[in-house]
Amino acid sequence: MSIVSSRHPDRLLPRRDRRSCERTLVALLITLVPLLAPLCARAEWIERVQDGIMGTRIAVELWAQDPAQGRAAVEAVLEEMRRIDRDMSTYKPDSELSLVNAMAAQRPVRVSAELFELLSTALDYSRVTDGAFDITYASVGHLYDFRQRVHPSDRQIAAALPGINYHHVLLDRESRSVTFARPGVRIDLGGIGKGHAVDRGIAVLRARGIEHALVTAGGDSRIIGDRFGKPWVVGIRHPDRKDEVIARIPLEDAAISTSGDYERYFDEDGVRYHHIIDPGTGRSASKVRSATIIGPTATRTDGLSKTAFVLGPERALEIYNRLQDVDAILVTPEGQVLYTKGLEAPAQ
Ligand code: ADP
Ligand code: MG
Repeated sequence: MSIVSSRHPDRLLPRRDRRSCERTLVALLITLVPLLAPLCARAEWIERVQDGIMGTRIAVELWAQDPAQGRAAVEAVLEEMRRIDRDMSTYKPDSELSLVNAMAAQRPVRVSAELFELLSTALDYSRVTDGAFDITYASVGHLYDFRQRVHPSDRQIAAALPGINYHHVLLDRESRSVTFARPGVRIDLGGIGKGHAVDRGIAVLRARGIEHALVTAGGDSRIIGDRFGKPWVVGIRHPDRKDEVIARIPLEDAAISTSGDYERYFDEDGVRYHHIIDPGTGRSASKVRSATIIGPTATRTDGLSKTAFVLGPERALEIYNRLQDVDAILVTPEGQVLYTKGLEAPAQ
């Protein structure tokens, strides 16, 4: 048996045989190309950015075996988010949630299973965070309009503050209904709804067989699978310098939420009025500048990303460390970056 270098195939065949071989090859390629073309055009990364659903930016990125099916999957995610927005927005007077706000102080309001479960998850997070996360924040929160630079006066806050307390929200599982324990209570799912919408988006993709994807709604994202065999990399921005990144986090099969005092705010007389409200005072909570939570679902990371603003970094880190299934990165008002135990560099 002779060994022939594959770099010198000329040595293999006489010239005439080579020509016929080349012809066969060309013929073979002509027959195969139409068969191969759809195969080559198939699998594809699909990206879509859409503004204006839930008042925020939605981004979906996925790997699809079939581009047409991939695009349809993206559409289905966006449609699911529009539906959630219709049902759960307090800006829409005819949403299910607006109906609850209008009626629940007078009588029990029966709600969909989805809304019931989300309300009960929200109350769980209130318990876990010592009341820092509280959907009744809206009893005072609705008096702010960050776009119009409107904030309530001290008197208005004092009058509305008794409406804030998650214990005022009474859920009855048997009748699947919500009642408010007193008048003046309002709830808002702005602190958990985007996370929920992201989780629903991921469920829609999974049901369609998608195994590699990123779904983002505002500051809430969830990832399934990897990206080209590597983790997805999510950046955490600097609180003041929009284009600067303070940390890059590699992630696979995880959710991540960032809350910041730079998202929806205005400054007046040296005070920053922003959209995270301390349920104890009815005023913007400013004990950190930003909080990023990493965890198993976006509902959970969204629900927990407000805590540090209200409780401060030490108490919040205690809670996050205790929870086991989440990690956190906090930026303090002094610009210090703090991590939960799971993210700390191992001791040398
Ligand atoms: P995004 O709206 O971009 O997801 P966040 O996750 O930081 O931003 O959530 C901020 C929203 O949470 C506010 O706009 C408001 O609707 C809601 N919220 C504010 N304070 C609280 C609070 N103490 N508990 C629960 N939700 C809150
Ligand atoms: Mg959020």
